[in-house]
Amino acid sequence: MADWQIIDSHCHLDFPVFDAIRQQLVQSAQAAGVSHFVIPAVTYKDFQRVIDTASLYPHVSFALGLHPCFMQEHQLSDLEKLAEYIESQPVCAVGEIGLDFYLEGFDSVAQISLLKAQLKIAKEHQLPVLLHVRKAHDIMLKMLREMSFDEGGIVHAFSGSAVQAERYIQMGFKLGFGGVVTYPRANKIRHLAKTLPLNSIVLETDSPDMRLYGRQGEPNQPKYIVDVLKEVAGLRPESIETIAAITTANARRLLKLDGS
Ligand SMILES: [Zn+2]
Repeated sequence: MADWQIIDSHCHLDFPVFDAIRQQLVQSAQAAGVSHFVIPAVTYKDFQRVIDTASLYPHVSFALGLHPCFMQEHQLSDLEKLAEYIESQPVCAVGEIGLDFYLEGFDSVAQISLLKAQLKIAKEHQLPVLLHVRKAHDIMLKMLREMSFDEGGIVHAFSGSAVQAERYIQMGFKLGFGGVVTYPRANKIRHLAKTLPLNSIVLETDSPDMRLYGRQGEPNQPKYIVDVLKEVAGLRPESIETIAAITTANARRLLKLDGS
């Protein structure tokens, strides 16, 4: 067994690309020290698949939400269905939801209105959120503030500035770090991983996406979170065990995950 227990706070274990290898993938991640997995949903049609995947293994939690990169797939009625699912399923968060102003041809009005409705659902159910944010941190922060959103959450694959990070932290958010830190040229993200307070950081893989440096040719998978952990440890003064323990405790507390 590994010397640590890590939570992969963001992995799409339900994606069909893993169908043939899911069991093996979970086992090899557990052997590497991954003790818990969090699966966020991206569209309504995936909700049941996410729930079914999570039910197959112990220590897998899930979130449900409508992702900003799939605006063409969302229907207005999906919001109602999301609220129903959230009332009847043991979700750990609403997600992944957010704003993506990096996408070609993005519709900011539609994204903002979808996000607002989902933040409202999260607030009503006192649930944290798993946020996907690209090129829209200031607008996101403004929306969270205007809605007095105080359930917190994780800004997954954080890509903002130190000032934006500080604002999220003040609002009770954790910042997710994944494969990007393994790229030698990712100076900005590596600097944040080095300097942010450890109690504001969580680790993730975003499997099968966000492939690691040197592993660009294969789908990402949860066991590679150990490489992310090692990379972060190489940048920081704390020991690798401390970084694993604190980032795991951060995710556990925020998402109210069970203790094993
Ligand atoms: Zn994701």
